[in-house]
Amino acid sequence: YEVKQAGRGGIASYGGDSRQTLARLSLTSKLRRALQREDFVVHYQPIVAPADGSLRAFEALVRWQDAERGVVGPNEFIPLAEDAGLIEAIGGWVLHAVCAQQRAWSADGLASHVHVNVSPRQLRRADFPSTVRAALAEHGLDPTALTLEITESAAMLDAERANPVVLALHALGVRLAIDDFGAGHSSLVRLRDVPVQTLKIDQSFLRGVPDDRQAASMITAIIELGAALGMVTVAEGVTSDAQRRFLVERDCPLAQGFQFARPLAAAEATALLRASAATR
Ligand code: C2E
Ligand code: MG
Ligand code: MG
Ligand code: MG
Repeated sequence: YEVKQAGRGGIASYGGDSRQTLARLSLTSKLRRALQREDFVVHYQPIVAPADGSLRAFEALVRWQDAERGVVGPNEFIPLAEDAGLIEAIGGWVLHAVCAQQRAWSADGLASHVHVNVSPRQLRRADFPSTVRAALAEHGLDPTALTLEITESAAMLDAERANPVVLALHALGVRLAIDDFGAGHSSLVRLRDVPVQTLKIDQSFLRGVPDDRQAASMITAIIELGAALGMVTVAEGVTSDAQRRFLVERDCPLAQGFQFARPLAAAEATALLRASAATR
């Protein structure tokens, strides 16, 4: 990967002041090295039924394990990886890590369903569906083992048309979810044209619940919208029992948040799967 902007305009055309630019460049080269060394790890956050907390799925969340800086969260490097053209490689690594983990669980008799975050840039590649198909096939998994989480804007190619890559993923048989729903700019009309099964309600809506009546009305409306469209809604960012009860009262089918569990290391996720298989 070269710094494309270098040349006549020089590195300065990267934008920002030069100190910041240098910091970004060195972070980018560290990220590239991390990719070669596979210094990443996937954590798994439970997605549960809010009524009884029973485990229904996991969301895979990538972390960078840096020798100097320790564990680095995705908000600190995914945007950079997008800009640097490294997101396809990181996303591919995550997909393979998740499929390998699901294969291991299934070999232990543990059934799992995992959500994987997909960046808008991955959804601009016509070969992404075949990448997903190959990862599933390599680990002997059925496409229904995965839900791909996509953003509202990436779901659409333009105002009228669904993204053809999204349609191809649907045809492949993987499930699709709109992540951070309500935080983007999509209209409800456009939502109708995208073959998604799940709406993940952006954390910001739940933050004021139950005290903020407006926030409460909004989240109630989204849950009802999801039900009316035959979609499953997942409330993100549940941090209190009052919020949990609020969701149960409104028949929100699924929830995720620190109130139930933080993202877990693979071994902890395995223990949880085993425990929930035993009580099923
Ligand atoms: P997201 O997909 O919306 O994931 C949910 C984020 O909210 C996670 O942060 C999770 O740890 C956090 N979270 C969960 N429950 C709570 C809660 O109760 N309270 C609060 N305050 N936060 C909660 P994380 O792991 O730092 O990930 C941040 C974002 O990075 C993700 O947001 C996703 O957009 C992106 N990301 C993570 N992994 C990947 C990946 O493999 N590929 C891509 N493209 N993006 C990823
Ligand atoms: Mg997500
Ligand atoms: Mg989200
Ligand atoms: Mg997010």
